[in-house]
Formats: sequence, structure tokens, C-alpha cells
Amino acid sequence: MKPIVRFAPSPTGKLHVGNVRTALMNWLFAREQGGTFILRIDDTDVERSTKAYEDGLKEDLNWLGLNWDKTFNQSDRFDLYKSAADDLEARGLIYPCYETSEELDRQRKILRAQGKPPIYNRDALELTAEDIAKLEAEGRKPHWRFKLSGKAAEWEDMVRGPQRVETSSLSDPVLIRADGSYLYTLPSVVDDIDAEITHVIRGEDHVTNSGAQIEIFEALGGPVPTFAHTPLLVGKDGKGLSKRLGSLSMDQLREQGIEPLAICSLLGKIGTSDPIEARQSLDILKDEFAFSKIGRAPARFDEEELELINSRLLNDTPFAVVKDRLDAFGVPATEDFWNLVRANLTKLGDAVGWSTVIHAPMSGQIAEEDKDFCKEAAEYLPDDLHPETWGEWTTVLKQNTDRKGKTLFLPLRLALSGRRRGPEMDKLLPLLGAERARARLRGEVG
Ligand code: GLU
Repeated sequence: MKPIVRFAPSPTGKLHVGNVRTALMNWLFAREQGGTFILRIDDTDVERSTKAYEDGLKEDLNWLGLNWDKTFNQSDRFDLYKSAADDLEARGLIYPCYETSEELDRQRKILRAQGKPPIYNRDALELTAEDIAKLEAEGRKPHWRFKLSGKAAEWEDMVRGPQRVETSSLSDPVLIRADGSYLYTLPSVVDDIDAEITHVIRGEDHVTNSGAQIEIFEALGGPVPTFAHTPLLVGKDGKGLSKRLGSLSMDQLREQGIEPLAICSLLGKIGTSDPIEARQSLDILKDEFAFSKIGRAPARFDEEELELINSRLLNDTPFAVVKDRLDAFGVPATEDFWNLVRANLTKLGDAVGWSTVIHAPMSGQIAEEDKDFCKEAAEYLPDDLHPETWGEWTTVLKQNTDRKGKTLFLPLRLALSGRRRGPEMDKLLPLLGAERARARLRGEVG
């Protein structure tokens, strides 16, 4: 049986590295198994969900290459959730509660003060028809809770191994708010059954939820899917990322010039037993994916590592893949230019700076004590430059001046490129041309 999985973001914010990791795990698993990847838009919270966020997250997923086979919105399916709720109500599996949030807060505080877990006391189960009529006459509207069995929910998690959640240690989950809106818990189960989801792959912050949801799956007669709960992302310092997620959104990273494949390479590998390396395609990541490789410890996400992966990825990228994007930057894109600079880029946009060095007039950097040496070097430079010229030319300079090593090479690099570090000079020199190179060595604009 081919797996059917879903990535289920709520369009109440931007897609960030945390939820992209969940999307990626679902996608890699589906593609590796030849299964189906569904994008479900969890927009039951109509107040906070927006079309702009929904469009944004679809754009981000497309940019990342995480294509979906099917998509639907929960907001189009309220009828289904209503009939599931009616069915549960008819069978006494959900029950109306009239406590206000202040009353519930107070109850929880008292329980905590008594050193007890803050579990809902199920007072609403004791309400008589008379009590209910009275509360409704006061204008109170009920919220609805699912009646947990009090037994243990058990499953074999694909990441965490055997799991057991005692439902007696949980509050009966609220499925429907007093204003009639649905929390995510019930719609998610209804949709998972309806879409015949085989595997629910999500962050481990949902483990307790899964305990309750398994009972809802069973109550609605659906098969319980296999669960995989992946450890959460933390920063380099081991702390949660929640406060920094804003700057780790896909649109921010895209703006900073991070490549989608650098993001997927890093997110696909951190927290796994594989080495963290840049991968040239999602297909490679897919072939390497296995739940058995995902560890139990939190996965450390480090922005510096992302930049490193980005630069390695660019270094390995063939010219044909970047040609159009270099053209769009206004960089005269030749294969020689790309092969020259690709090892020296953190972001693709850095190529613009190197293009300016090569194609625009500028004067190099020459220290006072190197002026004569550079002028002399200009005299020895042949007209016809090719990749061997650099080696031949610097050998001649070594023989005819008292310089060698760094005192020989660095002044030439600084005069020709204006930078201390950069592409290999043997390749850079022919692209500059003899005339421009000589002008710069003489301290002129060239
Ligand atoms: N919309 C839910 C969330 O973003 C989905 C969780 C799930 O995958 O079931 O947390």
C-alpha cells in the first residue's frame, strides 16, 4: 500500500524553518515510497487565517520544490465536521460545558496550588437538563469536550518507538468553542480519515494530542494512521527557536539569497545520523531519507551552517543551472566567469561583486612599499593571457625581484582585484585582460 501523507499548516503566519522541516519530512517520505503528498490548509480559525498567508505558504513550498498532489481547505468542509460532531453527540461522546475561561483558569490554579495536575474536573458531565436550561437562559453558550476513555492510547511511533499516553492524565479536549468554531483536533481527524491518510508525520509537540486523537479516530470508525513525531528544532544554543522564527521565514531567507536546496539539505539532515552536506537535488535527499536515521534529540539549526551549506551548494552548481539567474543579476554570464567565482560565493548575489571586479573599471589596492614592484610586474606581463600565464609570470617576477611567497603574490592580488582573498588568480587574470591588468598594476583606474 502506497503511503498518503499530509502537511497541514495553518495560514496564520509565514512558513518558517520549523514547519518547513515537517513539510520536508512528509514530502521526502511520500516521494521515496512513491506515495501521495497532500497539502491541507488548516484554516478553521477564520479570524486569524488569511488568504495572503495561504498564497505565501504555497509560493514558499513551490520555491522549495515541495510540490503537492492535492490540496484542500478545511474552511470548505465545515459540513463534514458538523456531521461528525452530531454523530459524536448522539453517541454521548462529546458533552456540552458552560464554564467561562476565567472559571477554568481559576480551577487550574487551585489544582496547581494543591499540587495536582490541572486536569478538567468533568463537572459538566453532572449537569442536569434543568441546570443546562438555566445556564442557557443566562445566555451562556456551550463549548464541547470529547469524553476520553481514561485508558492508555498506545502506538508504535516511527521515530520515537513504542508510545503510551494515559488519557486519564489529560483534560477532555475541547473540540468546539462556545462560538461554534472548531479547534484543530476534530477537523484534522475527520480529514485524515476522509483523505485516507496512512501516516501522520509532525512535530513532537503533538505527541499528547495524538493520544487524544487516536481515541477520536476510533470513535469515528476510521483506521488509526501510523504516527511519526519528529524532535523539534532548537538553535545553536540549544534553546527553542520560537522567538526567532520570524527571521527564519522562507521569504526572509529567500531575500537574503539563501538557496532552497541549501535549506532542504540542512533541514533534511540535522538531527539525523547522516552527515550534513549540500545536496544538488531533492531526489538525492529523497533517496537518502529514512525514519530510522532520525534521532530522538532536538535538531540544532544554525544559521552559520546554513550559509556554509549554501556556499558549498553554489560551489557544486553547474553553470547551466545558474545562467539565467546570473543574467537576471545583470552579470555577464559566461561559463569561465562562473567557474572562476563559484568557490568564492556565500550567496549567488556575491557574484555581482566579482563581476564588477572583472568587468568594470576600478583601481586596485597598492600599498606604498609595493608601488614599484607592481609597476615592474606590469612591464613583465605578456599581452596574450591564458591560464598558464600566472605561473609563468610570477616565476619571472621571482627571478627578477627579491620577492617570493606572500610578499610576491599578495600585492599582485590586491592590485588586480582590490581584495585580499578571492578566485584563483590564474583564471582571473585572463578574464581581466592584459590592458586592464597593467593599468591596475600601475595604480591607474582600469
Ligand atoms: N495545523 C496543525 C499545526 O500546524 C497541524 C498539525 C498536524 O499535522 O496534525 O500544528
